[in-house]
Amino acid sequence: MISRIDAHIHYKARVHEDTQMIRDLGLKLLCICTGVDPVGNWRKQQADIYIKNVREFPDVYAWVTAYNTPDFKISDSDYADRCIANLQRDMEQGGAIGCKIWKGYGMEVKYPDGRFLMPDDAIFHPIYAWLEKNRIPLLAHIAEPMACWRPLEPGKPHYGYYSQNPQWHMYNKPDFPSHETLMRHRDNIIAKFPKLPFIGAHLGSLEYDLDECAKRLDAFPNLAMDTSARLSDLLFHDQAKVKAFIEKYQDRLLWGTDVGLGYGTPTPESLQKDRNYCHEMLTAEIAYYTTDKPLKYGPWETVGLCLSEKVQRKLMYENARKWYPGL
Ligand SMILES: [Zn+2]
Repeated sequence: MISRIDAHIHYKARVHEDTQMIRDLGLKLLCICTGVDPVGNWRKQQADIYIKNVREFPDVYAWVTAYNTPDFKISDSDYADRCIANLQRDMEQGGAIGCKIWKGYGMEVKYPDGRFLMPDDAIFHPIYAWLEKNRIPLLAHIAEPMACWRPLEPGKPHYGYYSQNPQWHMYNKPDFPSHETLMRHRDNIIAKFPKLPFIGAHLGSLEYDLDECAKRLDAFPNLAMDTSARLSDLLFHDQAKVKAFIEKYQDRLLWGTDVGLGYGTPTPESLQKDRNYCHEMLTAEIAYYTTDKPLKYGPWETVGLCLSEKVQRKLMYENARKWYPGL
C-alpha cells in the first residue's frame, strides 16, 4: 500500500535492496530526468534506468523525461520538432508522465554570440505549446536559491553545494543574469501558456521569501511548486508561517526531496552509502511534515510541523497525482 509520493527524486535503483527500502518506507517515487546536453547522453545515464524500473515496478516508480539542449554549432531547424517526437515516444512507449527543464537555460547554455539562452526563448515555444495541448506537466528548475547570488555563509543551506561547485555560485558575477531576471523569464512561460500545468521545482526558486511564492501562486492558477531540496530553507523561516503557507496552498504544493542514488559508476559500497543517505533524508523529511517531534535534518535541529492528516495527504500524495496525471 503506497501512502506517500516523493514527487521529485533522482533515485536510480539498480539492485533489489534499493527498491525494497522504498517499499518498506511506503513510498512511490517520481524519478526526474535532467536534459543537460545536446546529444542525449542523459538518456543512457538517467532515462534508460528509470524506464527499466518503471516497467519492472510500476507500483514503486514513475518518471519524468526531458529533452536535449539545442546545439547552436549546427544549424538545426528541426530542433523543436525532434524534441516533441522524442517526448511523444517517451510518453507513449516509455511511460513518462511529465517533462523537465533545467537551470542551464538562463545560466549556462549560450548562443554563439555569447547571449544566454533563456527558458522562455521562442525556440522552445512549440515544445511548450505541445505540452500544453496534451496537458503534460512541465517541471521547471529555473534559476537557483537566492543563496547562489549571495556571499557564502557557512552553516546556512546551500553552503556545501556552492563551496564545492563554485561555477554555479553567482555572487559577484555581473556577466550572469540576476535571480530577478531569471524569475521574469520563467514567469513569462507560465503566463504565455496558461493551460500548461507548470510545476516550479524547489519552491520555484523563491525559497527565501514565502510571500514571493504566494504572489506567483496567486497570479498563476496553472502553477504548483514542489518542496524538493528546500526543506533546509524552510527551517530558517518562522515555523508558524511555514505551516500557514502550506495550509493556505494545500492544493498547490507537492512534497519532493531531490535526494539522489546511483550517481557516477555505482559500486556495491557506494550504493549502500547512497541508500543509507536516502533513508536518513526521506525519514527526516517525513517526520518534519507529519510529527510534532524534535528532529535532526542534516546539521540542523528543528521540530516537526505536525500538519493535519488532510493537508499531509494532499502535500504528500494527492497533489502529486492531481498535477502529474498517470502517477
Ligand atoms: Zn532535482
